[in-house]
Amino acid sequence: MKELGIPPYAGDRTGDKSLSKVVNRALLLDLLRKSGRSSRAALAKETGLTKVTVSSQVADLLELGIVRETGAGASELGRKPVMLEVDGAAGFALGLSISTESLRAVAMNAAGEVDRDEVLPMEGRSPEAVVAAVADAARRAKRRYGRSRFGLFGVGVALPGAVERGSGRVVRSAKLNWTDVPFQEAVARRYPGMLHVGNDATLATIAERRLHAPEADDFVCLLIDEGIGSGAFINGAIHYGYNGQFGEVGHMTIVHGGPRCPCGNLGCWDLYGSELALRQALGAARRGPPPGAEELLALAAAPPDWSREAFANFVGYLTTGVVSIVNSLAPSTMAINCDALAASPALFDALKAGVADRAMAHGGGCELRLSSLGKAAPAIGAAMAATERFFEGLVLQGSQ
Ligand SMILES: [Zn+2]
Repeated sequence: MKELGIPPYAGDRTGDKSLSKVVNRALLLDLLRKSGRSSRAALAKETGLTKVTVSSQVADLLELGIVRETGAGASELGRKPVMLEVDGAAGFALGLSISTESLRAVAMNAAGEVDRDEVLPMEGRSPEAVVAAVADAARRAKRRYGRSRFGLFGVGVALPGAVERGSGRVVRSAKLNWTDVPFQEAVARRYPGMLHVGNDATLATIAERRLHAPEADDFVCLLIDEGIGSGAFINGAIHYGYNGQFGEVGHMTIVHGGPRCPCGNLGCWDLYGSELALRQALGAARRGPPPGAEELLALAAAPPDWSREAFANFVGYLTTGVVSIVNSLAPSTMAINCDALAASPALFDALKAGVADRAMAHGGGCELRLSSLGKAAPAIGAAMAATERFFEGLVLQGSQ
């Protein structure tokens, strides 16, 4: 039996007579979304709710059009139960992730399946250009999904920078060179739909954990490309830090007396362990231009002799940083999103061996995994965040 918890977004409804309805609906929807398909009897058994309560709630959800019946399931004896599932085609969320040059757009249906994944152009990285590109993408998706039951029910935006929770104000983005930009407010003036704005590494972490480690209460995700960002679940909750500034692990000093980083600190991890740093080291090693994205993957998969020292140094610097994170945050699982490591099992094995050798064990050690989401991770997380807001709204309708 599941614990009947009050969902945090139910706020101060604890004195409300309809609270039990909110809790029951949250529990049932949550279970259906996690299990994919289930019968009324299985839902009752799993939640500990009575069959009457389950049937009444399911009738409401069927009428709302968010759940559908999908024919008979398997049963050991007698009549086969009618199965239920979230109706994916009922509505869609759009997740957008902003990089310095383009916009990654992932459309996801209500059941959490990716419907479209594309890269859209952006006219520069000024707040005006990004707001215009986001509003255009949202309007296009609203038209595309306009005929579904709930249409485009939400838009999530992942930004490389510190984002204030609630207001969606960008406190600071070094990558975009923005300071104190009321981003959510500006988009809302051009696109009036439901909007969620968050930090890209935080949203990628939410996606990574949901898909690959839902049971891990202490979970860290590292995003390694131009720089190194991170997100973390601590005691089962995503951690934001003051002003949404958690996760700038790329700016911890890894080399005492190292060069000054654009952030102001000296010898930052970004300057040694990022993919950008690796490319520069490879360019220097061959006395030529740094490799582009595709060439980097080819080199990582089959490193020529001249590149071996650069790759070995890269893994060494990564190991040093990962060991410090494992020792300070004690995650049970760490997902690493890095194209070069994904292209080379040998590099990833070297990282794992280095961490196992040097990090404190924390009762069994931290499991290191490669991300399977790649560069789409922040956009997928943004779409998931918008989907969560939508389901929270549906749950609260249960109290009306
Ligand atoms: Zn720095």
